[in-house]
Amino acid sequence: MANIPTERLGQSAQDLSRAAEILAQGGLVAFPTETVYGLGADACNDRAVARIYEAKGRPSFNPLIVHLPSVEAVKRLVIWSDAADLVARAFWTGPLTLVLPIRPDAGVSKLVTAGLETLAVRIPAAPLAQDLLAEFGGPVAAPSANTSGHISPTRAVHVQNDLTGRIDAVLDGGACSVGLESTILGLVGAPILLRPGGVTRAELAQVLGKPVATRDEAAAISAPGQIKSHYAPRAQVRLNATEWRDGESRLGFGTVECDLNLSPSADLTEAAANLFEYLHQLDARGTPTIAVSPIPDTGMGTAINDRLNRAAADR
Ligand code: AMP
Ligand code: MG
Repeated sequence: MANIPTERLGQSAQDLSRAAEILAQGGLVAFPTETVYGLGADACNDRAVARIYEAKGRPSFNPLIVHLPSVEAVKRLVIWSDAADLVARAFWTGPLTLVLPIRPDAGVSKLVTAGLETLAVRIPAAPLAQDLLAEFGGPVAAPSANTSGHISPTRAVHVQNDLTGRIDAVLDGGACSVGLESTILGLVGAPILLRPGGVTRAELAQVLGKPVATRDEAAAISAPGQIKSHYAPRAQVRLNATEWRDGESRLGFGTVECDLNLSPSADLTEAAANLFEYLHQLDARGTPTIAVSPIPDTGMGTAINDRLNRAAADR
């Protein structure tokens, strides 16, 4: 990515509106939450979300947590439940993320959910995060604001040292009070602890009035599909297709004749932004095979190929 100027913003009203403006324009803003600094982008903008992966140099697409200012805003994106209500009342605002079924009309980029039908949501407690989310007014996708493989940042200077030149702004709100990632609770079926964190399994079980399984326990007792953390198409996926075969759906890249083109100009960030949406669209046609053009294995292409390789192998 080009070396872009990274603005350093503080806590003034003017700086907050500047940060919200950058998000609205599809930019990346690192902001403090009580857990760690998040790298925020407009969750409804495919290109903006693709830029998160580019800036972090993530070698794979994991679903991202969406940050919201209120329970009302959360309910517009996910299908709410009594269990969600219990834990939300007990632990929000705070370091707890809930994974719930996504509403069909949520409007969130498929790159945020990595194509899944579930969405991870959280209402952060940190006042500056609250202010930014209120000012921006829409869902903000945010993984930790660090290069993939580096330590999560708990101060603005950590973000600056790591990501300057690759993101549009850092909002400095001092040190994060918790300093550890949020607990992630899956509430799609029976409660599952997807990631341990500050809110403990025992606390969750007490509030829910029922046990909370770990990922391993859940995998042992239920169909693995239930806790699948990656979208797999129903169709077979044929990679590195340099010519098309009869009856295939054709997912192209670059100057090639095809059904859907990830990026006619061979731009890897654009291709990442379109990847899950186009896989879904071609899968919905019901052809037995989706053939995909070769994707260069550099930069964002590494994450795209990781995902495509899994899609081709997942059976
Ligand atoms: P990070 O991006 O570092 O904050 O990590 C986000 C975590 O949330 C990852 O471990 C994801 O796998 C997990 N996650 C986000 N969305 C979902 C989802 N829909 N289902 C299961 N896990 C999720
Ligand atoms: Mg992280």
